[in-house]
Amino acid sequence: MHTGRHFLQIPGPTNTPLPILSALAIPTIDHRGPEFQKLGADVLKRVKLVFRTEQPVIIYPASGTGAWEAALVNTLSPGDKVLMFQTGWFATLWSKMAAKLGIAAEFLEGDWRTGADANRIEQRLRADTTHEIKAVCVVHNETSTGVTSDIAAVRAAVDAAGHPALLMVDTISSLGSIDYRHDAWGVDVTVAGSQKGLMLPPGLSFNAVSPKAREAAKTARLPRSFWDWEDMIAANTTGFFPYTPATNMLQGLKVALDMLLDEGLENVFARHARAAEATRRAVRHWGLEIQCTNEAEYSGVLTAVRLPEGHSADHLRAEILARSNMSLGNGLGPLADRVFRIGHLGDFHDLMVTGTLSGVEMGLAACGVPHNPGGVDAAMRWLSGNSAPRALAS
Ligand SMILES: *Cc1c(COP(=O)(O)O)cnc(C)c1O
Repeated sequence: MHTGRHFLQIPGPTNTPLPILSALAIPTIDHRGPEFQKLGADVLKRVKLVFRTEQPVIIYPASGTGAWEAALVNTLSPGDKVLMFQTGWFATLWSKMAAKLGIAAEFLEGDWRTGADANRIEQRLRADTTHEIKAVCVVHNETSTGVTSDIAAVRAAVDAAGHPALLMVDTISSLGSIDYRHDAWGVDVTVAGSQKGLMLPPGLSFNAVSPKAREAAKTARLPRSFWDWEDMIAANTTGFFPYTPATNMLQGLKVALDMLLDEGLENVFARHARAAEATRRAVRHWGLEIQCTNEAEYSGVLTAVRLPEGHSADHLRAEILARSNMSLGNGLGPLADRVFRIGHLGDFHDLMVTGTLSGVEMGLAACGVPHNPGGVDAAMRWLSGNSAPRALAS
């Protein structure tokens, strides 16, 4: 039995703030009635601000994986080729899904420590003179490694190659936490989910879709029904959905949008960057290695930390859960037991960051992992010397 609040410091699902929890508990309403229509119209309109788009954003009652599938089945035909970049575990899962759907996914090999390499993408596209590649699919924030890829650079690479491929981006762990611009970066399909930066429980996922993607959908022949964009867009024009939406999750989304937009997206991003910097200061002080090796690609959302050879990251996480009632992210795929991941996203403030770091530092000591004590102090010194975002005047 644990006392006190559980610290959910995995990189999603994240801590759900009380105002959102209260909204989820509003009695379920008629999804064909006038009250719902107002709710639907409001969230469908304002969610675009978070994607920074004026194009339709489709909302599915599904986890992020569903929105991955929607992006592929709406735009592609059996046997189509797509180019993906192996940033880590989530990019790997997306490519496996493509293969299962009968798409030929070409996977540019990565090192799981850096982001998508725009130059290599450009070279590959230049070599594709017959334009066999129909889409380039990239994960914006690779949640398995804590590496954020430069999507504007990938866009520029596609343009420089003069290639007509669609650009699809997974922002499941970055939307609402790291700067992202669907329209300005010329993204055709943005895939997102509810349980990370949007601070909701798992259960909603999203596709923001460009006119070019909708055009491709007209001739795309992969079977689709539940995921069909045009059925959604047609019903959404009046605030409704073609099948029962996750009504209570949309009540929660309304409040999540209030919170993010009241704080201001720039402030939200700065708050994440601040927590990330404080976390890296602690990790460096401990003398542990950060999985991401390119400073320009450090994630504002999570930090993956490598354990010294011979020490088990899973044992450390289990010990921290037992001692401090805190969940940390596990290592995925080849990083299993080698890294643990500190989530610093969603609803949190400085004390949650330092509380999280103190739980880690106590765990390192308890498990006999070699480290220099005082990482929490290093984080606190940096936080106190750098002005915190002020609470908003109400
Ligand atoms: C969490 C995550 C997913 C998977 O989303 P689910 O909601 O678990 O289906 C995919 N991609 C990234 C980058 C993620 O962080």
